[in-house]
Amino acid sequence: MTAENDGAEPARSGFERQWSYRPATPIAVSPIFAWPPKPLDIGRWIRDRWFVLGENMVLVGLATLTWLFLQPPLEETRELAFSWIAAMYVRNLVLMIVVAGGLHLYFHARKAQGERLKFDPRDLKASGRIFTLNNQLLDNMVWTLASGVAFWTGFEVLMLWAMANGYVPVLLWSENPIWFVALFFLTPAWISFHFYWIHRWLHWPPLYRMAHALHHRNTNVGPWSGLSMHPIEHLLFFSSVLLHWIVAAHPVHILFHMQHQALTAATSHTGFEGLLVKDKNRFALGTFHHQMHHRYFECNYGNLEVPWDKWFGSFHDGTEESHQRMQERRRRMAGS
Ligand SMILES: [Zn+2]
Ligand SMILES: [Zn+2]
Repeated sequence: MTAENDGAEPARSGFERQWSYRPATPIAVSPIFAWPPKPLDIGRWIRDRWFVLGENMVLVGLATLTWLFLQPPLEETRELAFSWIAAMYVRNLVLMIVVAGGLHLYFHARKAQGERLKFDPRDLKASGRIFTLNNQLLDNMVWTLASGVAFWTGFEVLMLWAMANGYVPVLLWSENPIWFVALFFLTPAWISFHFYWIHRWLHWPPLYRMAHALHHRNTNVGPWSGLSMHPIEHLLFFSSVLLHWIVAAHPVHILFHMQHQALTAATSHTGFEGLLVKDKNRFALGTFHHQMHHRYFECNYGNLEVPWDKWFGSFHDGTEESHQRMQERRRRMAGS
């Protein structure tokens, strides 16, 4: 050991220097799919996702409140009419502005949490010709509110209209309460499956250039980046709810499914791992998993709900070794 590096921190690699905060790596995926099974880990995973105040519980509550107080009854949605459709669109605009706008204000405008749990050291881009209106935030807001919320509402309208007319099977609590509850738990897993394959397809070069490149204008992300997509991508993204053309559901499941899709797009792109309250991460938000997708493109197409990336060879677990493997894969693809 020489005098110069005596006691010094080990040199940080290029990969490490790109991030101001990284969670413990390798990134944990759902233990439900690990072998041999570890029942305690599985119990903890389900508890953290469902039984403490977290995204899923908040969203079940929100869908229930929406159904009870902010949704026209099925008798009314039998006939397509401007008044109730417009009311749903405005309701969804307000939900999006409250969630994405609130997160943006707290984390990026006021910087209330500073750099703590912030993955990327860079700020959102104040200008850039790549962006609509030359500004990352405005670009993201325009695509989210004009196209994203319109498709979100459009799919809700389609499903509720079809239910009201008997084109789609309706599930009632009184018929099968166990399945009624189970459907809430299964929805995020179905969304994860659908999202992984839609997303891989969106990276097929012609479709990428035509549609998905718009979402990838954001190499660093904020809450408004989540649903900032091309209309073609919105169409594919929200189409996961068409499952209920076959699988019976209640309108509250449709609202949960769609709000989950739209609002977790905002929370998962916050750029921060979670909300700190008294120095503890009290509410999980973004994942390093998807943050790396925005920085490196050819990895982590899915989410952590079901380890599709691990099974299909596209997983970047946040370690230096994994990073080397991804770069090696990229070089091979470029050379072939
Ligand atoms: Zn994204
Ligand atoms: Zn992508």
